[in-house]
Amino acid sequence: MGARTIRPGEQTGLLRASWRLVIRERCPHCGQGRFFTGLFGIRERCTHCDLRYEASDGAWIGSLALGYGAGALIAALMSFSQVAWHWIDELGLDPLWTIAAASLTTSFFAYRPAKAFWFAALYRWDFMAFGDATPGPHGDNPEV
Ligand SMILES: [Zn+2]
Repeated sequence: MGARTIRPGEQTGLLRASWRLVIRERCPHCGQGRFFTGLFGIRERCTHCDLRYEASDGAWIGSLALGYGAGALIAALMSFSQVAWHWIDELGLDPLWTIAAASLTTSFFAYRPAKAFWFAALYRWDFMAFGDATPGPHGDNPEV
């Protein structure tokens, strides 16, 4: 397949891209090619439509922030509820270690769907391209 840019308005919406990536773990554009290679690794490009997933270096970094954010949110919720109701103490657990373990576990399990969602957003807002084309609203399209 030759280098082809995604034309404006050609992307699916964020909701459909998220459904394809987060739930089905498939390509956000065609819904066919698999997205992940292992637990957290992603393919370089779609095996079906040649969409390049990580079209820019470090494109994955936002997914790290989302995964960490999920863990931080759980830690904050547990901390405030512990201060208000002392429920972790009453269970006979050490609050600090319980919150730390819950936060790390949440970050671990949230990372994969967070990565899928992050890449759905990158796709929706034009940070992916087909073949070797430059990502972005104009890409390699000389007509624009
Ligand atoms: Zn595809």
